[in-house]
Amino acid sequence: MSRVLIIGAGGVGTVVAHKVAQNSDVFTDIMLASRTKSKCDAIAEAIGGNKIKTAKVDADNVDDLVKLFNEFKPELVINVALPYQDLTIMDACLIAGVNYLDTANYEPKDEAKYEYSWQWAYQDKFKEAGLTAILGCGFDPGVTSVFTAYAAKHHFDEMHELDIVDCNAGDHGKAFATNFNPEINIREVTQKGKYWQNGEWVETEPHEIHKPLNYPNIGAKESYVIYHEELESLVKNFPSLNRARFWMTFGQEYLTHLRVIQNIGMARIDPIIYNGVEIVPIQFLKAVLPDPGELGENYTGETSIGCRIKGIKDGKERTYYVYNNCSHEAAYKETGAQGVSYTTGVPATIGAIMFMKGLWRKPGVYNVEEFNPDPFMDELNKQGLPWHELFDIDLEM
Ligand code: NDP
Repeated sequence: MSRVLIIGAGGVGTVVAHKVAQNSDVFTDIMLASRTKSKCDAIAEAIGGNKIKTAKVDADNVDDLVKLFNEFKPELVINVALPYQDLTIMDACLIAGVNYLDTANYEPKDEAKYEYSWQWAYQDKFKEAGLTAILGCGFDPGVTSVFTAYAAKHHFDEMHELDIVDCNAGDHGKAFATNFNPEINIREVTQKGKYWQNGEWVETEPHEIHKPLNYPNIGAKESYVIYHEELESLVKNFPSLNRARFWMTFGQEYLTHLRVIQNIGMARIDPIIYNGVEIVPIQFLKAVLPDPGELGENYTGETSIGCRIKGIKDGKERTYYVYNNCSHEAAYKETGAQGVSYTTGVPATIGAIMFMKGLWRKPGVYNVEEFNPDPFMDELNKQGLPWHELFDIDLEM
């Protein structure tokens, strides 16, 4: 018997629900809960076969969560709601004795600040309770962190430079849309850039460092250094790294829209009064932008995300590139969601499989690179995200 509760019924929740249901040898009882129950019901109906129970829950409310946990009695919660809910869900897990997994680090609503400090502070509490918390188990963070752990284990004696490269070469046919929750996405990509060099963080203006990089099966795409949360745990867990950066591709049209959104104040995260009602501009913007969960139908092209690493093996310099390409069309055909939701939801499911099989289970709070990467890498090939390796190539860095 392994009972799993998925919280969040957006694009990522849709994929997790499909993949968990496909793995019925591991997950015997499944519940999908979110703020809007009708979204959970629609996903459960699309999957069919009465495989998934549904429920309404307010994940900002610890009592509401504990009540649901005590009723359903899950062994593990997969949190694919928003990063704002991470701490309330972790609190509820501690009260009800439930293990925890997420895909994005906690963010306070009133400040776009990306750091693990809030969640790492739960280390002793989870340890004492004998519960496991697995942090950042999407693609990036998630697979990129496991790729790095796999490289360290099998291909390097010492890693010196890590460049995580994230390309979305898909086309959804909209003038402007974000691939996951617009509020979270816009907060992330409009912040200042930051990377690790020689033992300290170097800050840049937003999108200041950029150059074209070549992606397998895609070609050259302009790529920008941005700050991304897995860098924080990776430089801590792999201290031989003297440089670690994260690159993401953006089209000119996307960047122009983003600049306008910022210039006219629509990216603001502080509340304003409109017609006597308090609204947060970026939340209002989310309500009028295309729903990322609905982008799948006409989405063509693919994503390519991987790690380019330089270091030493057997006394010689080595370069290594490990990556996955994912087709938006294939993702949609399988789950009804586009590639970005797919590349996040599949690894979250694999993390849950690792936990349920006892392969990733140790009391405390851990980032994914702190577990054995090998069974996770095997499972990526089986669950729809096959990976490829290139050795001793020009990394373009
Ligand atoms: P969506 O906005 O599509 O979905 C979020 C879901 O959470 C919605 O169903 C929403 O409910 C629900 N939700 C929000 N607040 C609450 C609440 N208080 N109580 C209960 N449910 C709530 O987001 P995505 O599916 O695109 O993303 C989900 C998560 O995945 C995010 O945390 C995102 O940061 C992360 N992510 C991680 C990636 C990675 O590679 N690591 C990449 C992409 C995303 P409602 O429908 O009512 O709004």
